[in-house]
Amino acid sequence: MKAVRVKEYGGPEAMSYEDIDRPELGDTDVLVKIEASGINYIDTYQRSGLYQIPLPATLGLEAAGTVEEVGSAVSYFKSGDRIAYTSVAGAYAEYAAVPEDKLVAIPEDVSFNAGAAAMLQGCTAHYLCKSTYVVKEGDRCLIHAAAGGVGLLLIQMVKNAGGFVIGTVSTEEKAQLAKDAGADEVILYSEQDFEVEVKRITDGAGVNVAYDSVGKATFEKSIDCLSKLGYMVLYGNASGPVTEFNPATLGPKGSLFLTRPTLFDYTADRASLEWRSGDVFNWIADGSLILRLEHFYPLSEVQQAHIDLEGRKTTGKIILTP
Ligand code: NDP
Repeated sequence: MKAVRVKEYGGPEAMSYEDIDRPELGDTDVLVKIEASGINYIDTYQRSGLYQIPLPATLGLEAAGTVEEVGSAVSYFKSGDRIAYTSVAGAYAEYAAVPEDKLVAIPEDVSFNAGAAAMLQGCTAHYLCKSTYVVKEGDRCLIHAAAGGVGLLLIQMVKNAGGFVIGTVSTEEKAQLAKDAGADEVILYSEQDFEVEVKRITDGAGVNVAYDSVGKATFEKSIDCLSKLGYMVLYGNASGPVTEFNPATLGPKGSLFLTRPTLFDYTADRASLEWRSGDVFNWIADGSLILRLEHFYPLSEVQQAHIDLEGRKTTGKIILTP
């Protein structure tokens, strides 16, 4: 089968499109014929070595497709079922072996592309606003990279929970997308000082929660945007990792909370995975969550997809098709 492999950490050129054997099935695994794989920013961290993984590796942590074959102890899924999954390595390929307990069925009216787009970024946006900080009516929420994959979904979920959204983006085009998704205010953080703007928009009160996936470039100012008892949710490193921080500063700034959450922990058990993915698929079906599937690349052109993602050229979801 065709797959995208990384043998040594590096830039987009470190990925090669190759023929490899189909993965072997364990007793509780399902062989998935992949119809669509989701590209996520974490794939670039695993490719570059910012997040270390055992090499050589097939990249990709999210896909949708059909069950081709099942292991001897698989009890729930059967050949032909339409499924999606996340948090299992090897999705940049034509086939993947996935433990049964990581799969969810996708409804008939949800396409494979939507299935692949919903899992990682959808469940992330879900846990950020339903668990890490539970957004309530009237909460003021700062969302960085608001026109990105997670960003556009998080805006909608926060709005549906009654929150007030201040988004940040780098271009006017992205600002329009964030507004279309429901953001109340959008700041061009490439041109404006977002801390000054947040204080202006909130009449000096600050925000209850800052969702920061940009990391190094925004972290300190995001903390300074918080109101007393505010939540700093650092969940990514698109501009580089935050390496130095003195927790003592959280006290005088208003007894702030700081957390560095990951999707893996928030979907570690079956009940959490079913709750989050079930909500996401229901919201897609009833129209309260709109996916923006805007960028499609064949598996063989994965290098260009990573160049565009890291070059801030993409918005919404990027899909790879085998
Ligand atoms: P995005 O589609 O949001 O792409 C990243 C965006 O970050 C860019 O489009 C860009 O938006 C912004 N950005 C700001 N500074 C930089 C920079 N120096 N280089 C590149 N991009 C920059 O990606 P995803 O939706 O896949 O992921 C968003 C973030 O969420 C990532 O940091 C990812 O690691 C994190 N994440 C964390 C999870 C977790 O559980 N902890 C799970 C899923 C994602 P703009 O041009 O508007 O600034």
